[in-house]
This record gives sequence, structure tokens and C-alpha cells, in this order.
Amino acid sequence: MSKSKQTSLLVHGYEVVIGFETHAQLSTQSKIFSRASVAFGAEPNTQACAVDMALPGTLPVMNKGAVERAIQFGLAVGSHVAERSIFARKNYFYPDLPKGYQISQFEIPVVQGGEVSFFLGDEKKTVRLVRAHLEEDAGKSLHEDFHGQSGIDLNRAGTPLLEIVTEPDIRSSAEAVAYAKELHKIVTWIGICDGNMQEGSFRCDANVSVRKPGAPLGTRREIKNLNSFKFMQQAIDFEVRWQIEQIEDGYEIEQATVLFDPDTGETRAMRTKEDAADYRYFPDPDLPPLVIGRDWVEQVRADMPELPRDLERLYVEEYSLTPYMASQVVSTYAKALFFNSAVIQNGDTDAISAAQLDDPEFYKPFARRVAVWISGEISRVMNEEGGPDWQFWIDPVTLARIALREQEGVISGKAAKEIFDYIWKKGRDEKANAPPDLVDSLIESKNLKQIDNADELRSIVAEVISKNSDSVSQYKSGKEKAFNSLVGQIMKMTKGKANPTQVNSVLKEMLSL
Ligand code: ADP
Ligand code: MG
Repeated sequence: MSKSKQTSLLVHGYEVVIGFETHAQLSTQSKIFSRASVAFGAEPNTQACAVDMALPGTLPVMNKGAVERAIQFGLAVGSHVAERSIFARKNYFYPDLPKGYQISQFEIPVVQGGEVSFFLGDEKKTVRLVRAHLEEDAGKSLHEDFHGQSGIDLNRAGTPLLEIVTEPDIRSSAEAVAYAKELHKIVTWIGICDGNMQEGSFRCDANVSVRKPGAPLGTRREIKNLNSFKFMQQAIDFEVRWQIEQIEDGYEIEQATVLFDPDTGETRAMRTKEDAADYRYFPDPDLPPLVIGRDWVEQVRADMPELPRDLERLYVEEYSLTPYMASQVVSTYAKALFFNSAVIQNGDTDAISAAQLDDPEFYKPFARRVAVWISGEISRVMNEEGGPDWQFWIDPVTLARIALREQEGVISGKAAKEIFDYIWKKGRDEKANAPPDLVDSLIESKNLKQIDNADELRSIVAEVISKNSDSVSQYKSGKEKAFNSLVGQIMKMTKGKANPTQVNSVLKEMLSL
């Protein structure tokens, strides 16, 4: 998105204000306070133990794996991991909550502060986090197949959740989607959540309000359970339009919880929103304070994979990628891995020599070239055809070879693209990576080698000059366009195999004779 678009985010003179609450289901084997399994899709009530069913006399026992994942998240987004946090009971009645309360964290959450940054177009945006707290999920009401009655499935009860809450820093539906995608990337990257939105492992609530610029915050409505990025955008756009219409028509917005209906594309009020006071939060007497020693935090830190933001910084420093380019390369774990293997190789079949890898004059532009391939063609084929077999399409060393021949001037960008397309389609169809010599043999067999022989090029340029005396005299009388038309003629005669930079300089030189 261009700068000008970013600075005019107002919708009909109103500023949009959004804060997110995201529930990430933590990827533990068992529940947060019991030993029952959290596997998705089992027969109703086969994965609910006495604790999950709230039988009298049962007691919750904290799952260490859930806490560890909360710590990982805190470290990944630069939060403070609290040394002592408290579990609280959030009291409400609902058939899928047999205890009559949800165990959550209220006043003192485990993860405090932090931020999530991302690019929207080429502009960087930072959203501050308020907190992330541990809590248990509720069960589910089932309304089908019960002869007109409803049933309760407690398999989901007690599933560990991390609820991640932002400040109201988001200013448009596009920013909201970009934030949610970035958060999704972080939790899946560090492996604390499988990110499956369809199964509800990553669901977002968007709190939306509008105001005149400079006015105090407007009243918000909370759109619940957005489980696709597409619906997220549609729901927020609809909600913003609806709120502005209400205000313009003289109504006041009433705080409410709303649901998005994908069939109508509209949001609809579900209930007027409770305030925190309605839940009668109090510390859960069954659970002691959660104490996290500094040594545990450091141990978790040591075991974490390299984080996206650290890789971005590294790529900017090492290879002089622009911050935007670096963010593109690191936009998924798979792409970052691909970039890394293409640029830093250490096997027998390497395209790049050790000497080249030691020479910044070589490896910086080379890495930038590979980054362009990854943010362009590689992303395109991943998005369009992204399937389980993508690793066969094209391997990092083969891409490195293509980029290398391009950098050496052996082939043009257009020829490189032709080779790329040929190889990834072949890899897709045959489910096998390209043999090491394929790039060079394609350059030969498809006759894609650029003309690098200066004498050959000179004779072609001379011929074009003699056949196009009109263009030549126009150029000499100051018409720049005539020059381009001569370049076009030369490219045509060489079937696009002349190096454009070389053509330019040879033509200039020969025209000035
Ligand atoms: P609650 O306790 O009702 O969940 P919070 O104060 O925790 O309310 O806020 C929930 C979310 O709503 C946060 O992400 C916050 O940034 C966001 N939020 C708060 N006020 C507004 C507002 N006026 N407009 C948009 N979002 C808001
Ligand atoms: Mg809240």
C-alpha cells in the first residue's frame, strides 16, 4: 500500500479503532488442568474426565506444557513473563460450562506487554499487546441428531488457550487482517499452536469502534469468533459501515457482542455485553499462584527456534535486504528456510563456491536476488498451488543456480523465469527434484545464453544503425524515444538474448562515433 493510502485511513470522515482478542489453542497433548486428551474430532464426551465434567471433589492440576508455551509466546513478542501470576474464576452460567465458572487469569496474567510488528505494503506497523493469559476452553452444545433436543459435548472443556489481547492500536480492516496473519505466523512458527482456523485452534474477536479524529474512543462492539481472514475483513468492513450509519442517523452505539454471518455478510447483535464486574472474578482457591523462576524462562529461551524478527534483522544486516524485503522472505517458516538454504549452502552439489560465499561483493547482491525470487515466483507458486508436495517443485540449490546464472549475466531475467517455470512444473509432475546439471543444460538446449561476445553484438548494432537512419537522426536531434526504439530493434534481432545493459552502452558508444 502506498504512503498516500496509509495516511488517509478515514472512512467517511471517521477514524476506525480496533483491538483484538485472540484465542490460540495451545498444542499440548492433554488439557490445561486434567490428563484428558485434546485431540480434535473424537466421539462426544469420550475425552472428558472427571475434572472436565466438574464432578464434585475433583481438583485442577496445572499442565506444565501449557505454561511453557505461554512463556515461549511472551519471549517471542518481547513481553514481560510474570514471575507470579494468578488464576481466577470467571463466573457465568452456560450449559457447556458445568462448573459454573471458567478458570482464567484476570488481574495478574502470565504474559504482560509486548508488541507485534508487520508490514502493510511497504509500511511498518506496530501493535502493542496488553497481555496474554492462560485459560480453559468450555464445552460445546450440539444441536443436531438429538431428536429435537440438544446435547453437550465436553471434549473441548479444559482445552488450554492463550488469550492474546492488544491495545486498540489497529486502524483499518486491512491492518486487522495483517495483524492476525502476523500473530498466526508467530504462534505457528514457535510451535505453540497448530494454527488450524477451521478447527478453531486460532480464533479472533475484533473490538470495533469509530470516532471523529481527535475525539475520545467511541463505544465498541465485539465481533466474536472470526475464524478466517476473509470473514475477518468482511465482518469489520460491514461493522464499520453500520456504526457510521447509526451515528450519522443520530443513534448511539450500544456496547454489544455481535456475530458475523458469512451468508449475509452482516454482523448481528448476540447479546449486550457484560462488564468485567458481572463475572464476579475472584482468585481460584483450588490453584496456587503460578510461579515461574528466571532459570525456567532462560531454559525455554535457549530451546526456542530463531524468531522471525531476529531473522529479519539478520538478513538486513548480513545481506543489506531492505526491511520490507526481509519481512517478505520471513513471511513463513518454509520461505525463510528456503532462503537460508539457497543463500548459504554446504553440500557437494552447491551452486556457489566457498570463495563467493566469503565475498560480500558477491553474496550481498546474490542474496538480494534470491530474496526477489522468493517474494515473487516462489510465493506465487506456493500460494497458487500450495500442496503437500511443494518441496519437490524446486529445491533451493536449483533456484540458487538460476539466480547465479542471472547474476553472472549468462541469462536474462526473462530466460531465468522460463527455466524456473520449466523446472517447477517438472518437479511438480514427476515429484522429484531437478538433477544438479539441469539449469545449465536447459540454457544450452533452449538456446537461452545471452550474447556476451562484444564483437558479435557490435556487428548487430552496426546493422541496426545502418537500417534505421530515421531513428538515428531523430536521436541525434534530441529525441530520447528514438534510442529506445533502436534498443528494441537490437533485442528483436538477438531474440532477446543480448544483455540490455551491454546493448545500451554499445549503442550509445556507436551512435556517438
Ligand atoms: P473486556 O474486559 O470487556 O474484554 P478490555 O478492556 O479487556 O475489555 O478490552 C478488550 C479489547 O477491546 C482490547 O483488545 C481493547 O484494545 C479493545 N478495546 C477497548 N476499547 C475499545 C474501543 N473503544 N474501540 C475498539 N477497541 C477497544
Ligand atoms: Mg477481554
